[in-house]
Amino acid sequence: NDLASMMDVSVNDVIAKCMALGIFASINQRLDAETITIIADEFGFDVKFTEADDETEVTETVDNPEDLTERAPIVTIMGHVDHGKTSLLDYIREAKVTEGEAGGITQHIGAYSVETESGKRVAFLDTPGHEAFTAMRARGAKITDVVVIVVAADDAVMPQTKEAINHAQVAGVPMVIAINKIDRPNANPDKIKEELANINILVEDWGGKYQCQEISAKTGQGIDDLLEKVLLEAEVLELTANVNRNATGTVVEAELDKGRGYVTTIMVQSGTLKVGDVLLAGSHYGKVKAMFDHRGKKLQEAGPSTPVLMLGLDGAPQAGDRFNVMDNDREAREIANKREQIQREQSMRTKKHITLDEIGRRLAIGSFKELNVIIKGDVDGSIEALADSLLKLSNEEIQVKIIHKAVGQISESDVLLASASDAIVIGFQVRPSQNARKIAEAEEIEIRLYSIIYDAINEIKDAMEGMLAPTT
Ligand code: GDP
Repeated sequence: NDLASMMDVSVNDVIAKCMALGIFASINQRLDAETITIIADEFGFDVKFTEADDETEVTETVDNPEDLTERAPIVTIMGHVDHGKTSLLDYIREAKVTEGEAGGITQHIGAYSVETESGKRVAFLDTPGHEAFTAMRARGAKITDVVVIVVAADDAVMPQTKEAINHAQVAGVPMVIAINKIDRPNANPDKIKEELANINILVEDWGGKYQCQEISAKTGQGIDDLLEKVLLEAEVLELTANVNRNATGTVVEAELDKGRGYVTTIMVQSGTLKVGDVLLAGSHYGKVKAMFDHRGKKLQEAGPSTPVLMLGLDGAPQAGDRFNVMDNDREAREIANKREQIQREQSMRTKKHITLDEIGRRLAIGSFKELNVIIKGDVDGSIEALADSLLKLSNEEIQVKIIHKAVGQISESDVLLASASDAIVIGFQVRPSQNARKIAEAEEIEIRLYSIIYDAINEIKDAMEGMLAPTT
């Protein structure tokens, strides 16, 4: 309705356009930016989005410079698989136990913080790899101050090493290089430095700007020095926060625990979080019932750059969701409810992955050219026959691509492949494993099961015909 009146056209025409895109919108439905742009374009309008007062946003206090004090850096460890990210995180977590703490059982809560030799604190995100880092960034969360890139001295600069470096650079986060496994007889740190130089990462002792430390996550050699280098990098950044305000920060992990309800690991980034505070995180809220550090020690409060596990939320927010402490319960509940409503509307509107029903909408938007298919079947002969027939359905507008076909039940890895390549999965006389089914549900991957080849062909043909773009 709002969009129609802005363009001075009838709301029915807007609704009709929505339907042509496969969106069955009601008169007061919220539309996403992509849909608004397409529809406005149909009516000959260009859309410019401006900032609006968003009732689901929490206005954050701007701190006075004189209220700011130094805070600890938050570090993410990235690098190629098997180069020692987990070992390094484990070593630091276990080695840096201060007196009096010893004996405590450490838990993996997704983040921890330690005190270094020089008495300073460093916080780590305990989820190695750039997937977590990128997922957080995709949700708009800026949590990492320094990235440690781990490269194994007995291996080489590998594809994921480069990827990790790219991710850090794109995010504008400074890096410290850790050349790991130097305890190994065939370790060759100079070769690594040379390979890094080849991709424009010149380390300090070669005259470059990147700090680099040779370490062993097995013996602990060089790790204290690595931490000092991280702190040096942090010093340049002049990281500060105001401890005397309502806490804000980011959700690191959340899950439902049988005994304790929803347990959420959060990283406080500003302010001080206290037991009893009303916390709003994503579309969930609740009073902080209790807080713990990664050793299970109860905390009454937590300041900036402190990761804590907290109890008390009414659901599990997503990693990367921002949290705020609110002045009262009512305000938190209202915003949480509004956010949930918007999420629900959005998830109804755009499916993450392709389904036969989704094809028409995507074609209308004009972004759909290929239908990726994975075929699993009971015998080779029928898989080949099905694959052949499906390939023949290709037309000028849509290419059918069989990205994988094999004999056997539909497995977890089939579904993951479908998720990564936005494919649908067809099972002929086979069924998905229980795990595959679970993942497919979570990832919204369409699995279609058939026992007659013609049914499979006809259904896909129908979908593809329905998906022929209007040629006006
Ligand atoms: P990730 O995939 O990067 O998390 O790598 P892991 O931490 O799982 O390490 C991969 C393998 O390398 C494991 O078998 C570790 O025990 C081993 N490893 C990691 N760091 C070192 C190290 O400094 N020295 C030696 N000798 N082995 C290491």
